[in-house]
Amino acid sequence: MEAKSNLASSFSIESPRLGEPFLLTPGPLTTAYSVKQKMLCDWGSWDADFRDLTAQMRSELLSLIGDTKDEFDCVPMQGSGTFAVEAMLWSFLPHNSKTLVLSNGAYGSRIVQTLARIGRNHVVIDKGDYMPPRGNEVAAALEADPTITHVVVVHCETSSGILNPIKEIADATYSAGRKLLIDSMSAFGAIPLDMTEIRCEAFVSSANKCIEGVPGFGFIIARKSELRTSKGNCNSLSLDVHDQWVNMENTGQWRFTPPTHVVAAFVEALRLHRKEGGVAGRGARYTRNRDVMVEGMRTLGFETLLKDRWLSPIIVTFFNPADPAFEFGQFYQLMKESGFIIYPGKLTVADSFRVGCIGQMDEHVMRRVVAAAADALKQMGVRDACPPQSALSERAKLAA
Ligand SMILES: *Cc1c(COP(=O)(O)O)cnc(C)c1O
Repeated sequence: MEAKSNLASSFSIESPRLGEPFLLTPGPLTTAYSVKQKMLCDWGSWDADFRDLTAQMRSELLSLIGDTKDEFDCVPMQGSGTFAVEAMLWSFLPHNSKTLVLSNGAYGSRIVQTLARIGRNHVVIDKGDYMPPRGNEVAAALEADPTITHVVVVHCETSSGILNPIKEIADATYSAGRKLLIDSMSAFGAIPLDMTEIRCEAFVSSANKCIEGVPGFGFIIARKSELRTSKGNCNSLSLDVHDQWVNMENTGQWRFTPPTHVVAAFVEALRLHRKEGGVAGRGARYTRNRDVMVEGMRTLGFETLLKDRWLSPIIVTFFNPADPAFEFGQFYQLMKESGFIIYPGKLTVADSFRVGCIGQMDEHVMRRVVAAAADALKQMGVRDACPPQSALSERAKLAA
């Protein structure tokens, strides 16, 4: 009963393996061989060839956001994804702003922590580990406090894998006349973020998530109107998006040493993304990865933390089995010996682990992941991977 997805089956995995395991993790992730190969060349950061590469990258990223792309610009920022999130928040939240943070996991908490560090006034709706923030809650909070100027949300909260309902949150924000900023780190490139449908002032993602590049920089896609008025907001020199933008517009260069090899690899990753059918093609492969993997894991008795409606095609959280013979450290090691690096859980409510669906992997790889899990359970003497009853009743609280 395996329906064939045309997009997924026409895409060939470009031999990512050099004998190393597949990374079932949400970035760094398994990259194509041709992406790695592009890093074998040195570039002068001031040279016209590298400036062209930067310009090409910025324009290709903008081509992924739909017809309103002329109203936006793309500003790359050195560092890991968190640097780009901090740069976005610091640059687009004015000194006198007040932000409503919608938090439901580790990356939402990190945004709260960042706002505290940079001294921006904020309030938080904390939904715990995995409940989605809803449009009506946002509307009510904004109505109750007219001094709130901005809302910030994480698109796919990678700590649980939940896909937050970004459209209803954007609608609630703009109906109330406020502005939205999005951390779309682990979603952009695989989940549609069309600026004609979902309104926001800016969002951020990075090189090593769904575009399947290697780590080294993030990028902020922002409304030009917002970029123009952001001058003077950011107290950090290196994280100032306005300065980086103005400099890049004027000279074509990054302000400080760019991760040249990473940019070259990323442009190749963008070529593969386009070849696969862009956001739709990439999203289809990841969805297939998730469906095959989740179905197989459920056959073994594993259960997902989230109900199907909230499962992202990015990463899936599974409860640890109740069987006392199960021990995560050993499970991890056995999976690694089979060639798969999985990811520990990040929940406070129940013991769990995570399996990523992103990177150079297809459904055939995912079937091998399930077979490896079955084998690991057998070696550990776990008969059935079903979770404890307490975990399932916790999940029952999750909104339908
Ligand atoms: C990966 C990720 C980040 C950035 O993490 P870094 O470790 O700094 O790259 C931020 N937000 C989300 C939702 C992420 O998945």
